[in-house]
Amino acid sequence: MEHWPLGVFASIDAGFGVRLEVAHELGVQTIHLHTPQQESRTEGQAREFLAQLDDLGITITCVFGGFEGESYADIPTVKETVGLVPPATRRARLAEMKEIADFARRLGVNVVGLHIGFVPHDSQEADYHEIVAVAQDLCDYATNQGQAIHLETGQEPADVLLQFLDDVGRNNLFINFDPANMILYGIGEPIEALEKLGPRVRSVHCKDATWSKQPGITWGTEVPLGEGEVGMGSYLRTLGNIGYVGPLTIEREIPQEPERQKSEIAGALNLLRSLKIKIGTETSGGK
Ligand code: MG
Repeated sequence: MEHWPLGVFASIDAGFGVRLEVAHELGVQTIHLHTPQQESRTEGQAREFLAQLDDLGITITCVFGGFEGESYADIPTVKETVGLVPPATRRARLAEMKEIADFARRLGVNVVGLHIGFVPHDSQEADYHEIVAVAQDLCDYATNQGQAIHLETGQEPADVLLQFLDDVGRNNLFINFDPANMILYGIGEPIEALEKLGPRVRSVHCKDATWSKQPGITWGTEVPLGEGEVGMGSYLRTLGNIGYVGPLTIEREIPQEPERQKSEIAGALNLLRSLKIKIGTETSGGK
C-alpha cells in the first residue's frame, strides 16, 4: 500500500461516518468501518459487503466497535455510557466486541478499534484492574484470530494511556490516534501526546477541533479539517517523525447534514493531498 493512503470513516447502516457510496464518490480507497448492527453481522452479509467493496475499489483497514446505549451528548454522559468501562454493561459488551471481531475476521480485517471508555486515571482504583482484565480478555481473543486491537484516544492523557497499555501487557494492543478528541475532551495537547505515544500508534483519524473555554468540563467544538487547533501540518510531520505510514482516515461527524459532511470531507481530502506533497512523502512515481 502507498504511504499515507487517504481514507474516511464510513458505515453500512446506522453507524457513524459516511455511507460507502459517498466514500466511493469522494475517491477514497480505504475506510474505517463503523460496525453494522448485530443483525447485519452475518456470514452472508459479510460476503455481500465484500463484493460491494470490491466493486467500489475500497479496502477496510479497521472495523470499529460501538454499542447500543452509548451517548456522546456531553462529557459526563460519555463517562457513564461509552465502551467497556460502564460496569452494568461490561460483560455483555465484551461478548459483543468479540462478535464484532468475528465479523471483522469474516471481512478479512485484522484490526479492530474501539472507544474503551473512560479508564480511571488512578491505577490504584479497584475498577482499573477489572478494566485491565477485560482488555486482556479481548486482546487474547483477537490474538487467536490474528487481529490487533486499537484503542481510540480521547478520554485519557498520553501518560495514562501508556500506563494502561503496559498494564494490559499484550503485544496486539495499539492506539488509534484521534488528535481532535484530545482537544474535544480537553485532555492534552495532541502533538505532544502523539510524540509520547509514538510507535504505539498504528492507525489514525484526521479530525479537527477547537478547545472549550472549560476544557474537560464542556466539549470543545469539532470543525472542518484545517480550521481547528490541531495544526494539520505539524500533525502530519509528527506522524512522519514517529514512522507512521498507514492510512490517514478522515472523520467528520455531522451525519445530520450529509451534503455539508460530504463537501467538508472533499475539502479535507484536498488539504491532506496538498500537505502530503508539501511534506514530501509522495514520491514522484505516485506509488
Ligand atoms: Mg475518532
